[in-house]
Amino acid sequence: MNSMLVRAYVALGSNLQDPVKQIRRAVSAMDELPGTCCVAASSLYRSAPLGPQDQAEYVNAVAAIDTRLSAHDLLVEMQRVETRHGRMRHGERWGPRTLDLDLLLYGDETHEDEKLTVPHPGLPERNFVLYPLREIAPWLHIPGLGSLEALVGGCPDVGLQPLAV
Ligand code: ATP
Ligand code: MG
Ligand code: MG
Repeated sequence: MNSMLVRAYVALGSNLQDPVKQIRRAVSAMDELPGTCCVAASSLYRSAPLGPQDQAEYVNAVAAIDTRLSAHDLLVEMQRVETRHGRMRHGERWGPRTLDLDLLLYGDETHEDEKLTVPHPGLPERNFVLYPLREIAPWLHIPGLGSLEALVGGCPDVGLQPLAV
């Protein structure tokens, strides 16, 4: 484990088995990972599904964490949390799921290998990631992509709704 804390951002999504509860429990689970604490969480949003349209709409949020885990170890821990939340992998891309945890940013590091791409490649075009991220870290600059503010400006909030809970 690193001696230094790294600020990382995680996108959370769910459209099965009480999505709001799944997201709330997942934020707590991130806080309980080794060497990790959750420092902020956005409000919850509803969004239309990517890919197959014959599935329920999603609930999304973004969390900020401070972690001593490496980017790859953090990804493994996030996948364990997905599994504990009953995530099944059916091979269908963007199919329904109890929980999806995507690593958006890990400090200012960039990674591109068979397991991990950071910044997450969907980040610049997904309003359900950009808007909650701006809520908790409006000052961010994304390695290779520029200011978060500019990315949000170029990404309409079509289909994205604040969730009244
Ligand atoms: P998308 O990544 O487009 O949102 P998805 O979240 O549905 O799609 P998953 O099935 O959750 O995709 O993950 C597929 C693979 O993506 C994982 O096995 C993981 O190794 C890889 N992956 C690469 N980069 C990342 C990242 N930044 N965060 C999470 N998973 C990643
Ligand atoms: Mg995803
Ligand atoms: Mg994923």
